[in-house]
Amino acid sequence: MARYGMVIDLHRCTGCGACAMACKAENGTPPGVWWRKLLRGEIGKYPSSRIIYTPLPCMHCQNAPCVQVCPTGASYKRPDGIVAVDYDKCMGCRYCEIACPYGARTFLKEIKPYYPEFGFTPYEEVMYKKHQTGVVEKCNFCLERREKGEEPACVATCPALAHHFGDLDDPNSEVSRLITQKSGYQLLPEMGTEPSVYYLPP
Ligand code: SF4
Ligand code: SF4
Repeated sequence: MARYGMVIDLHRCTGCGACAMACKAENGTPPGVWWRKLLRGEIGKYPSSRIIYTPLPCMHCQNAPCVQVCPTGASYKRPDGIVAVDYDKCMGCRYCEIACPYGARTFLKEIKPYYPEFGFTPYEEVMYKKHQTGVVEKCNFCLERREKGEEPACVATCPALAHHFGDLDDPNSEVSRLITQKSGYQLLPEMGTEPSVYYLPP
């Protein structure tokens, strides 16, 4: 069984936001819900400082605090390493949202159309059926695409080829080789969460 993970190359990322929009299009997330965020930051000192962008999905932590605090078992870890949410078991207590150090989770209070004056578009009517109010949701590495053997939408869409997806347990996979050869690192390692998303230095 593979242990899926992602490598995001910050040197290649241009901050175009295509990954975040691909995620929205694939998963039909309602207004106010971003399963994939894009952080804008600055490194270096003036006059040599520059802007860097950090795409931020769920880290699919090996040691996931969201799973540990969930009182109903709604948040769970699959054998392939993906952390998922069973909406039917979620009671909306939001413990997981607080426990996640990466801000990966969103509580869905209500579902509104993007353009209220026009009502729900046909696309929204179809896609919002995948969501439930009163529960917490997040990136699931595009589970429906995984089941068809496809890469997550963000990986397939990134025009800068900054995303890589594969098996972290296979030392010969592209993701494992990139992490070893290009000094891949995890965010907030001091939290002990062991993220399955790695970054290559900007
Ligand atoms: Fe859970 Fe947050 Fe880790 Fe995702 S990033 S597995 S939501 S703790
Ligand atoms: Fe579990 Fe839902 Fe509570 Fe999160 S909000 S801890 S998924 S029951």
